[in-house]
Amino acid sequence: MRHSDSHCPFCAGDGGQVVSRDARCRVVLADEPFPGFCRVIWNDHVAEFTDLAPADRAHCMSVVAAVETALRALLSPDKMNLACFGNLTPHLHWHVIPRFADDSHFPNSVWGACQRPGAARTLPSHFAESLATHLMKIFSAPSTLTMGSPS
Ligand SMILES: [Zn+2]
Repeated sequence: MRHSDSHCPFCAGDGGQVVSRDARCRVVLADEPFPGFCRVIWNDHVAEFTDLAPADRAHCMSVVAAVETALRALLSPDKMNLACFGNLTPHLHWHVIPRFADDSHFPNSVWGACQRPGAARTLPSHFAESLATHLMKIFSAPSTLTMGSPS
């Protein structure tokens, strides 16, 4: 049985532009002022990472790693940031954020104090499609878990 919460934005909607999804989670391109900011959102409404069974935790982290790998390949960031809070939206999701030394908040977290006007940076054209293609390649490689395209 699928668990959901009618007051939760990640139960009510996708939480961004879906680039990949499977039965357990989805990868979305977030509407945030940091280009390439992605989230891996668990489909069921669970609050804590340790609410997941071990196999599901492993799957979730394999997806997070795949997103980080794809973002590094596509954007060559200076650093990748991973975060899991859920203080405002207690529905399990991981932030996967490419960071650049000249972005507005570096070296602070994207939730920290702004450091400067950020350098203008736009995503390559067809970025979501390229990200989806990279994720498909990663998940179709031998010895990895599978993840489908958005539906
Ligand atoms: Zn939820």
